[in-house]
Amino acid sequence: MSRFRCAVCGKIYEGEINTPNLSCECGSTIFYKERPNVKRVFTSD
Ligand SMILES: [Zn+2]
Repeated sequence: MSRFRCAVCGKIYEGEINTPNLSCECGSTIFYKERPNVKRVFTSD
């Protein structure tokens, strides 16, 4: 199970998406893959 966020409208899609032709309902075809376990990405040095 993976999560994908639309790069344009931010809509979240969940599931096993393996098709390279995935397109959002807003028309965007650019998605960011999200990892549900990673919430804190910031590292302050
Ligand atoms: Zn979208």
